[in-house]
Amino acid sequence: MANRIVSGIKPSGDLNIGGYGGALSQFIQLQQDYDCFFFIPDLHAITVPQPPDVLQRRTRDIAALYLAAGIDPGKSVLFLQSQVPAHAELGYLLQTLAVMGELGRMTQYKDKSDGKSSVSSALFTYPVLMAADVLLYRTTHVPVGDDQLQHLELARDLARRFNQRFGVELFLAPEPIIGMIGSRIMGLDDPSAKMSKSNPNTNSCVMLMDSPELIRRKFAKAVTDSEGIVRYDWESKPAVSNLVEIYAVFSGLSVEEIERRYDGKGYSSFKSELVDVVIEKLVPLQARYHEWIGSPELDRILKEGAQRAAAEAAPVLAEAKRAMGFASF
Ligand code: ATP
Ligand code: MG
Repeated sequence: MANRIVSGIKPSGDLNIGGYGGALSQFIQLQQDYDCFFFIPDLHAITVPQPPDVLQRRTRDIAALYLAAGIDPGKSVLFLQSQVPAHAELGYLLQTLAVMGELGRMTQYKDKSDGKSSVSSALFTYPVLMAADVLLYRTTHVPVGDDQLQHLELARDLARRFNQRFGVELFLAPEPIIGMIGSRIMGLDDPSAKMSKSNPNTNSCVMLMDSPELIRRKFAKAVTDSEGIVRYDWESKPAVSNLVEIYAVFSGLSVEEIERRYDGKGYSSFKSELVDVVIEKLVPLQARYHEWIGSPELDRILKEGAQRAAAEAAPVLAEAKRAMGFASF
């Protein structure tokens, strides 16, 4: 069987270059070598309240951005999670195997709930739905940003636990694909906090749809350090390393090539050329986005993708239910 990937970006906010580096740009490379299922986890987005009209707009927006970034619907399956009910169904079944203690240890839950008990119970169980997302397709690999490693580990545990408890060899424990460039893009104002869709501070993020002027302004404000040397070293120079990482994602150059290029030059030419490479990629991407968003072809691709995904998921879900003792007539 071919190596297979499942991954997605939640429509929980407008996309920024963190999601581009950690997901979209990697998807484009990975679709060359893997059998890929790219989806939009709209069911995950509602773990925090989303106004329905906003959810609808953002979901379609992200689909258009996937295509604008270069996902080839002829090669990869592109679909919305809510259109393939097997995700929610397997998610529920796996919840019966996941225990409160392990879910309570998830750092994203701790961060996002911030100690409050008024958050939705789905925010707590969302890593189990994520496990269902990947196990349903017998995925072999999952590209993950740093922030998702713990959730993938849970998916691996649940796969093994299910197989063991029900005496089947159904689910695969997928391997993480880590360390790809772009897997760690931090806020421009604070390199200790990840650049996130849900961060309300607009200066911390460059949005994929920002105008060139705004991009230039945001990078001009980005924090650096006082050393004045362009060097990739997350330990002692997180802010500059973050900018080098962004440069690498958008230019296609390696970190070493970037360090060499700016050897003996200060931050000002580095920052200004960083802006150029980002704009050079984003402007044509924005143009392609505008073409896709207005096109009924987008809806056709999503519909067909959901049919292909559902056909793949159905026998796996049926086997899981059979193994658990549900009637199969
Ligand atoms: P939210 O704040 O709502 O969780 P998010 O920005 O974290 O949104 P997700 O939809 O949760 O985005 O993540 C989609 C993918 O993008 C995941 O694989 C995640 O690891 C990756 N990703 C998100 N933000 C970053 C980032 N700053 N750097 C690298 N990868 C990222
Ligand atoms: Mg996230």
